Amino acid sequence: MSINKNSEKTIQKYRTLSQLFFVFLSIWIGVQFHEFVQWLNSGGRAAYVSRPPGVEGFLPISSLMSLYYFVLSGNIHPFHPAGLFIFIAVISMSLVFGKSFCSWVCPIGTLSEYIGEFGAKLMQKLFGHSTINIPRWLDYPLRSLKYLILAFFTYSIFAMSEQALRLFLDTPYNLMADVKLYEFFADISEFSLIVISSLFVISIFIRNFWCRYLCPYGALLGIFSLLSPHKIKRNVNTCIDCGLCTQACPQRIKVDKLKTVISDECTTCMNCVDVCPIADTLQLENIITKKRFNKKYLAVGILGIYFLIVLIGMLSGHWKSKVPPKYYLEYYKKVQSIGHPTKPEDYKGLELEKQK
Ligand code: SF4
Ligand code: SF4
Repeated sequence: MSINKNSEKTIQKYRTLSQLFFVFLSIWIGVQFHEFVQWLNSGGRAAYVSRPPGVEGFLPISSLMSLYYFVLSGNIHPFHPAGLFIFIAVISMSLVFGKSFCSWVCPIGTLSEYIGEFGAKLMQKLFGHSTINIPRWLDYPLRSLKYLILAFFTYSIFAMSEQALRLFLDTPYNLMADVKLYEFFADISEFSLIVISSLFVISIFIRNFWCRYLCPYGALLGIFSLLSPHKIKRNVNTCIDCGLCTQACPQRIKVDKLKTVISDECTTCMNCVDVCPIADTLQLENIITKKRFNKKYLAVGILGIYFLIVLIGMLSGHWKSKVPPKYYLEYYKKVQSIGHPTKPEDYKGLELEKQK
C-alpha cells in the first residue's frame, strides 16, 4: 500500500497568535480597569477614565445569571451587558467548534498550556519523562470536581425566579463584582496567594490541572461542545497506528484508538491533526454533512463567531454598561462592606432604573 505523506502546514502558529492576542487584550483591559479604579479612588477628582466593558468577560457567573434572566424576561440587564454578549459568544463557539475557547481564547488556558510545556521540559531534564499522568482511576473522579462546582452554581441560578434574579442582578454586589474582583487580586490575602501559588506549582507537574479538574466554565463549555457537529475523525483504513496523535494530545485523549473524538475534554487545538504523518487520516469533520472542515479556516471560524457576537452587542447598544459613573463612585466608598447578598436588606440600595 502506498503511503501519502501529510504535507499540510500546521495551524499552531495561528492558534498561538490568537492566544497572544487575547492575553494582550486581557492585559490592556486590566490596565484600563486599574485606571478606572484609580479614578474611583480619587473620589472622581482625577481625570475621568471610563470602565472597559471587556472586563465583564471575567464575570461568568453574573453573565450566566444575565443570560438566564434574558431567557426568562426577554430583557438585557443593564449592569454587565458586555459580559452577556461575551458569554453568548463563548457558548456559540463551543456549540460550533467544540471547547475551542479553552485553547484559542482563554488567557488562563493559555497560561496553563505554557506552564504545562515548561513543566514537561523541566521534568524531561530532571526525571527523563515529560509529565505526571494521574492514573485513570483517579483522573475520572477528579475530573468530575469541575462538574460538581458547575452543578452548584447552575442549580443555585436555575432555582431562582425571574423576580429573584432581577433582585440579585440589581444589587450593589453585582454592580461592583468587577471592582471586588480587582480588589481581591490587588489586596490578595495570604490564604488566596497560597492557593493560587499551589495551583501554579501543581500545573507545572500535572498538565492543565486547573482546566482539567477545577474550572467550572470549562465544564460548562465541555457539555455544550458535545453538541458541536465538528469532531476529530480518524480514517482507520489509512492510519498506520503510529500513536503520534495521542502523544500530541494535551488532554490525554487516546486519539489513535478512536474513530471519532467525542470528548468533553477535546479543545479543538488541532495538535493531533497537525502531527499526523499520513495525508487525509486525521481531520476535523462535520459529522452531520460528513464534510471535512479545512483546518486553514478554523481560526477564521472560531474568532469570526466570537467577534460577530461581540459586534452585535456593540451595534445594538448593549455593550457599554448603562450605569452612570456617579453610582460607581457612590458604591466604591463602601465596596469593602458590600458582601454577597443573603438577607433582604442586602437587596436594597441600588434602584438605578427608578432613579434614572
Ligand atoms: S483530540 Fe486533538 S484537537 Fe482534541 S484536544 Fe486532543 S489534540 Fe487537541
Ligand atoms: S497520528 Fe494518529 S491518526 Fe495519524 S497515523 Fe498516527 S495513529 Fe493514525
